[in-house]
Amino acid sequence: MLTASPKSKLPKPSTSDAPLPAADSAAAASFAGLLERLDYLSGSDIDQVRQAYRFADEAHLGQLRKSGLPYITHPIAVAAQCAEWKLDAHALQAALMHDAMEDCGVTKQELIERFGAPVAELVDGLTKLEKLEFDTREQNQAESFRKMLLAMAKDVRVILIKLADRTHNMRTMGDMPRSKWGRISRETLEIYAPIAHRLGLNFTYRELQDLSFRFLLPWRYQVLNKALEKSRKRRTDLIDRVKVEVQQAFEAHGMPVRILGREKTLHSIYQKMDGKHLSFSQVTDIYGFRIVVPEVKDCYTGMGLLHQMYKPVPGKFRDYVAIPKANGYQSLHTTLIGPVGTNIEFQLRTESMDVVAESGVAAHWLYKAKAPESAAAQNLGTQWLQSLLDIQQETHDAAEFWDHIKIDLFPDAVYVFTPKGKIMAMPRGATVMDFAYAIHSGVGHHAVSCRINGEQRALRSELSNGDVVEIVTDPNAEPSPVWLSFVKTGRARSKIRHHFKTAGENTSIDLGRRMLSQALRSEGLATMPSEAETDKALWDKLLRFTGNRSTDELFGDIGMGKRIASMVAKKLAATMTEAGHRPDPLLISTARFSVDEESVMQGVLTLDGSEGHSVQYATCCKPIPGDGIVGYLGRGESLMVHTHECPHGKRLLARDSERFLSVEWSEEPTRAFESGVLVTVANGKGVLARVSAAVAAAEADIAHVDMGREPAQSTTDLVFTLSVRDRVHLAEVLRTLKRTPSVIKAQRAKPSRA
Ligand code: MN
Repeated sequence: MLTASPKSKLPKPSTSDAPLPAADSAAAASFAGLLERLDYLSGSDIDQVRQAYRFADEAHLGQLRKSGLPYITHPIAVAAQCAEWKLDAHALQAALMHDAMEDCGVTKQELIERFGAPVAELVDGLTKLEKLEFDTREQNQAESFRKMLLAMAKDVRVILIKLADRTHNMRTMGDMPRSKWGRISRETLEIYAPIAHRLGLNFTYRELQDLSFRFLLPWRYQVLNKALEKSRKRRTDLIDRVKVEVQQAFEAHGMPVRILGREKTLHSIYQKMDGKHLSFSQVTDIYGFRIVVPEVKDCYTGMGLLHQMYKPVPGKFRDYVAIPKANGYQSLHTTLIGPVGTNIEFQLRTESMDVVAESGVAAHWLYKAKAPESAAAQNLGTQWLQSLLDIQQETHDAAEFWDHIKIDLFPDAVYVFTPKGKIMAMPRGATVMDFAYAIHSGVGHHAVSCRINGEQRALRSELSNGDVVEIVTDPNAEPSPVWLSFVKTGRARSKIRHHFKTAGENTSIDLGRRMLSQALRSEGLATMPSEAETDKALWDKLLRFTGNRSTDELFGDIGMGKRIASMVAKKLAATMTEAGHRPDPLLISTARFSVDEESVMQGVLTLDGSEGHSVQYATCCKPIPGDGIVGYLGRGESLMVHTHECPHGKRLLARDSERFLSVEWSEEPTRAFESGVLVTVANGKGVLARVSAAVAAAEADIAHVDMGREPAQSTTDLVFTLSVRDRVHLAEVLRTLKRTPSVIKAQRAKPSRA
C-alpha cells in the first residue's frame, strides 16, 4: 500500500468508499470539532468565532441539508476547511455565516452591528458570488468567469471561503438530486478547480477535480477506480522497494529527508487517457514520490543521487526551482525508470516549497500564524508569491493585499453578462454604450435605453463586475453625438464617428442632387440626365470639368456648399445642349424666380427636419414650420435656413444672392423645432413655475430659459427657447401664456444679432 502521506493532508480522492474526511462526519461537524482546530487563534478570537457560530446556528434553525443533517453542519464544515488553511477569525466567522444572508434573510446592517464591518463585508462578498451563475452552454467563457469571480471578490479570503464552500458541497453532492450533478460538477471543474490551482491550493485543486469527475462521469469513474485499485495491489511491492532504496541512498549520503508517496488523481489519469488515447495500462506515471529536503541546494544534490540509482527518462526533467510556475510552485521534477521498467516520477523540494505547493496563497496566512518563522518566506523564491508576501508585510491589510493580486492578475477589466448569459470583458470605466457597441454596431446605433440587473439605467452608466446588461433598441433610433463625450472604448468611438460621417455624406449627396436638379430647371431643363449607363458620357464630361471622381462626390460637394449648384448646372446644361437636349424658355422664367413665388413649387427643396447635419436652422431667427424661409449655402458648410424676415439672412442675401436656394416646409415635419418666446411677467412668488406650467399645458417643451437681470424692477423679461410643432402651435402657446396670471406680455422673440 502506498503510504507516508501526512495524516491531515492528502486524502486519497480515488478511494471514494473510504471514510469521509473528518470535517464531513456528523460527529466532527459539531462545533466542538471545529474548536479543536482553532489552536492557532487567541482566546478572544475563538470567542468571536463562537459568537458567529451561535448566530448562524439560530439563523439556520430548522433548516436541513439534503442529507437530512442540520443545515449548520455545512457552515461548520466550511469553517473547518478554512481553519485548516489557518485563516483568521474574521474569515472563520464569515465562513460560519456565509449562507445566512442568502438563506435566512439576515441583513448586512445586522451583521455590521453584531460583528463589525469587516466580517459583514466578507459575508456580503460571498452572497454576491452566490448569485452569479455560470452558463456552461456558452463556449470559451470559463476564463472570463473565473476572472470576474476573482475581480468581484474584494478580498482573497472571500475566494478561499468560497472554495471551502464548494469543496464541501462537492463532497456531499451524493445527497443532491442526480439532475444537478452535471451542472455543478462542470462548474466546479471549469471554474473553481482552476482558481484553486491558480492560487496554488494544490490539494483542493486535486480534490475538486476528482469529485467533479466522479459526479460528471460516474461510470467511467468507477471503472477507472477499480482498475487503479488492482494496479495499486500489484505495484505495492515495487513501490515499497523503491521507497526503501531511495531512503537508504539519502541516509548513506547523510541527508535527512521526508519521502511521500504520490498517486496521480483519477481525473488526471482519465485526462491523460482521453487526451492521448491511451489505455489505463499505458499511463505510466501514476506513481511517484515527493522528497522533501532540508535546503534548496539539496534539491539538486538529491536529483544527482536519484539519477545514479535509476536511469532518467530523457526530456522529463523540469527545474521549477530556478523557474517557478506562475502560482508560486517550486520543485525539481524528473521521471526515472524504476525496477521492472516502471516509470516513476520524483519531485524534490524544500519544506517551505512544499507548504506553498500544497496551500498556495493560504500559505501566507500559515506563515503569519507562526510569526517567528516568517523569514522562511524569503525562501519561497517565486517572484509572484514573493512580491505578494512583500506587499502583505508592508501593508498588513488583507484587502489591500488582494487588490495588489488582482492588479497583477487581471488588470483593467470588468466582466458583465449579456441577458443570455454570455460574458463580455470590458475595460474598466466602460459604459453601457461601450457594451452596446461591443455586442454589435447595430445594437449601439439603435440603443435607446438600458436595464442593468433589471433596473432602468442611463446609457452613460458605468459598468460593474457581474452586471447583467440589457440594451433596449429601436430601429428608428440614431446615435447621439453626446455619446462621444462618455464612451471609453475606441471601438464605440470610431463606430459613432463613422456613423455621423457616412450619415452626413449621404444626406449631403441627396441634398446636392436635389439642388443641382433645381438649378438645372433654372437653365430650362426639366430633368437631370440619368445616372445609369445611358447618360454616362454626359456625366463623365461634367466630372472631367469639375474634377470629381464620381457623381456622388460631386453631389456631396454641392450639398456641402463646396460647389455652387447654379455654376455646375450651367456647365451641365451646356453639355446637355451640345448633346441635343433643348432648354424650355418658360421653365427658365418660372424656375428662376421661384424664390418668392409660392405657386411654383417644383424644384424647391422641401425640408421636414430629418435632414441631419446637411441642413441647419439658424439660431438668430429660429425658423419653424409655417414661417417663410430661405436657404443659404455657406462656403464649406451645411445649408443654413433663415426666415424671410431675418435681418441677418437679408444681409447675406444682399451680399451673396448666388448662394441662396428656395426652400419650403414639408407638409409633415418629422420633429419639433425651437422657437424664441419673450414673456414679460410681473415679479412675484411662483411666477416662473406658473409660466412653465402654462407652457407645458400648451404641450410645448422648454429647451432653455433666460431670466432678466434686473430684479429691482417690477417686471422681468423671460426669454424662452421652446420646442413647438409649427406656427399654429406657437400661436396657441402664446395665447395660453397671455391668459396666465402675472403674464403681462407674450410674443415671439425678434431675431437676435440683427
Ligand atoms: Mn454554502
